[in-house]
Formats: sequence, structure tokens, C-alpha cells
Amino acid sequence: MPDILKSIEARDPAEKEFQQAVHEVIESVKPVLDRNPEYRHSAVLERITEPERVIMFRVPWMDDQGKTHVNRGYRIEMNSAIGPYKGGLRFHPSVNLSILKFLAFEQVFKNALTTLSMGGGKGGSDFDPKGKSDNEVMRFCQGFMAELFRHIGPNTDVPAGDIGVGAREIGFLFGMYKKLRNEFTGVLTGKSLGWGGSLIRPEATGYGAVYFASEMLATRDDSLEGKTCLVSGSGNVAQYTVEKIIDLGGKVVTLSDSSGYIFDESGIDRGKLDYVKRLKNLRRGRISEYIDKYSAAVYTEADSTLENNPLWDHAADCAFPSATQNEINGKDADNLIRNGVSLVCEGANMPCTPGAIDRFLDKKILYAPGKAANAGGVAVSGLEMAQNSMRLNWPREEVDERLQIIMRSIHQTCLDASAEYGDPGNYFIGANIAGFVKVVNAMLDQGLV
Ligand code: NDP
Repeated sequence: MPDILKSIEARDPAEKEFQQAVHEVIESVKPVLDRNPEYRHSAVLERITEPERVIMFRVPWMDDQGKTHVNRGYRIEMNSAIGPYKGGLRFHPSVNLSILKFLAFEQVFKNALTTLSMGGGKGGSDFDPKGKSDNEVMRFCQGFMAELFRHIGPNTDVPAGDIGVGAREIGFLFGMYKKLRNEFTGVLTGKSLGWGGSLIRPEATGYGAVYFASEMLATRDDSLEGKTCLVSGSGNVAQYTVEKIIDLGGKVVTLSDSSGYIFDESGIDRGKLDYVKRLKNLRRGRISEYIDKYSAAVYTEADSTLENNPLWDHAADCAFPSATQNEINGKDADNLIRNGVSLVCEGANMPCTPGAIDRFLDKKILYAPGKAANAGGVAVSGLEMAQNSMRLNWPREEVDERLQIIMRSIHQTCLDASAEYGDPGNYFIGANIAGFVKVVNAMLDQGLV
């Protein structure tokens, strides 16, 4: 194991997800370090794996019964070499320092790949919005922003949404920031359209992942037309992944949430997708309710005692993991390959374990790592920042066109870097190397800061 990993493990032994994310990048960039001795001399690995700043704070809030609760809030300001910190906020009971540091670390390279000027950050809380009333969510968001506002700003750090943080939460967070600072600025992205949001931002991560998948298929003279796809999750990324797959002639047969998954052999068409959007975004219901409406579909409850996730054990051509980290393990990867899947495109962040990735690369599956494939979300966040600065709103077609250009460019950048370093078509290596080189060169230009 490289020394840097040993020292990271020794320093923060409990941060397993962070170690996993660092390991993946460091393994990939070894040839870059060998070719550029000044990188090692300047200790770039030691510097890039240590956050520039970590903020942790108490968030007290009151529920509807008048009972006081305390959650923990975080913001990891990971790297600002190429722009202000940028990255989402996650509200989920599993949130801890390890998960947010892994997400912030990934974000640094992802943002570098977008071609826009954005550094990397991530934040959130172990607060669970599920089952809370709108008023409780509002009080929590206000308490969270009552501390966070000191650390963020349109030229400093610009948070956005992630798991558990959608348009409702961004609205409450923005309202409190505006009140505390007495200014209306583009300090958050993912805002609603009427007050500074960008068209296509809600769609961007899912659409972008599907655009990336189309680019990968095109390298083999293929397309999504007629392909059967497995999608996990049923939140923001999953919904718009399904929508774009349908647009491009594919068929999606699965969706999930943390309680279980549905399998709909006849395919989730536009009408069914509209139902899922209403179910998840308005009624905040469970995916199990899908079979009450569409009785031919089958619902399977999640079973944490199983070694594998049965969602990944259906005959299909493509898989779009779009729920959470480490949701495809080695066994799931074996099942996907056995069932005929030839493309895996990560909508979620780090959904495949290292064992799963090894199998995909070994079998020459078209495998897109999240830091490339799901970069469309943050890219359109960058476009939202640009529109806010100009006080302009670009039309839907213009933003979508820019998103497609950016996804094509990320795809090409990954291919070029993989070829330059002797492993053409390996998007995993390509994404890590291209993101790393851009950030490290900027760090070196700016001196020891
Ligand atoms: P949402 O909160 O909108 O949806 C998350 C979905 O994943 C829900 O269906 C949720 O189910 C499910 N889920 C969450 N945790 C688990 C778990 N431990 N096991 C099984 N299912 C789970 O989040 P997003 O769609 O925004 O995010 C999904 C993924 O995409 C995350 O990895 C995120 O970091 C990544 N991502 C998101 C971007 C964005 O723009 N939103 C940008 C780039 C990456 P339940 O409702 O039961 O919790």
C-alpha cells in the first residue's frame, strides 16, 4: 500500500469511505506521478487529500410537539485551486465525516472535468427529512444556515442539493441566508426557477449521465435504442435518468428506494414516470406503492442479510446505479455481467465497490465512474452561477445544449487521458488522471498555500 494511504489510515482510521475514494484516485494517478517527479517533490498527494477546511457545528431545532433535537452539521471545503468550493449538501442519518470527505474529494476531480471554474466541497447533516413535516424541515434548515452562512458566499463556497436536499430544502436554506446577510446572491444552486434557478438543473445529473452513456455506446457504433436498463434509486438522479433513457428509445425496468425495489418487465413509460415523480416529490411516498397502481410490476423488499442486491440480477443491457455509495458489490457485478449488461454508468457517487469496478474493467464493460458520468448536475449548477452573475435566464434549449457539449467534452477528455497513459477506453483511469492533473497544476501555480 502506498505510504500516503498508510498515513491517511493511521490518522483517521474510521474514515473507510474516504480511504476508499482516495485509494481509487491514487492507484490511477501513479503513472502521472512517475512522469512528473515535481508532483511528488511538492507533496501534491499529501496536500490534495487534506481538506483546506472542515467546519462542524451543532444544529438545534424544535419539532412540531415542541421537543428540542440536536443534529450535527458539516461543511468540508476540500480544494479551491480552480474556483470557489462547490458541491452539494446531504441530509441523511448515515452522514458522517468519512462520507462527506469522500464526496468532497470526488467533487474536486468531477468539477475539474466540467471545464468550469469550480473547486470542490460537500456538506450536510445526519438530520433525516423523511417523515418530518414541512415546518420541521424549515426549522432545521434555518438552524443549519444560522451557522453555515458565515462560511459560504457566491465567490467563496456555493452549496447545492444532494440526497435529502431538494428544491424545498434549498428554498428554506436560501431564505435564511438572505435574511442573515441581507443580500440576494447566487449563494446556492438548485434554486427554483422563479427566483434564480436555472432551467434543466433538476434534470441535469440524470440527463448528463445518459448523454455520457450514449457517448460511450457510440464508440462501439451502438446506441440506447431498444436497450433494457436497470436503474436504482427513485430520487432526482434516477427520475431524470429514466426520462432521458425513454427519450432515446431505451426501456427501464427497475427503480428502488431504501425499503426495496420494483421490477416492471413491460417498462416504465412516461405515464408511469409521471406517477413516480408525483409519488416521490409531492407525496413523499415509498416506491412500494408503485405496484398498487401498476399491478403487473413486482416489489421486493430490501434485505440487508443478502450478500447481493436482487435489483442487479435481471437480464438487461445497461445499468445506471443512481441511489447511493457502494450499492453494487463484486457479487452484484458478477450477476450484471452474467445477465448480459455491457454498460454501467454511475449516476450516484461511488456506487460500485472496488471489487465491482475490477470486474467491469476486467471484462471490458463500458464503465463510467460517477465523477465523469454524473458531472452534469454540478456543470449546470456552474451555469446557474453564471446566469445569476449576469442576472439572466437562459432558455431550456440553450442550457440543454451546453450540458450536452460539456458531457461530450468530459467523455473525450477521459478517453484522451486514458489513451495518453496507455489504457485506451478505460474511463476510470481517464477521469481520475484528467481531473487530478488540472487541479494539481493549478495548486502548483499558486504556490504553497
Ligand atoms: P435523492 O434524495 O433525490 O434520492 C436518493 C434515492 O436513493 C432515494 O430513492 C433514496 O431512497 C435512495 N437511497 C438513499 N440512500 C439509500 C440507501 N442507503 N440504500 C438504498 N437506497 C438509498 O438523491 P439524488 O437523486 O440527488 O442522489 C442520488 C445519488 O446521486 C447520490 O449518490 C448523490 O450523491 C448523487 N448525485 C446527485 C446529484 C444531484 O444533482 N442531485 C449530482 C451528482 C451526484 P429513500 O427515499 O428511501 O431514502
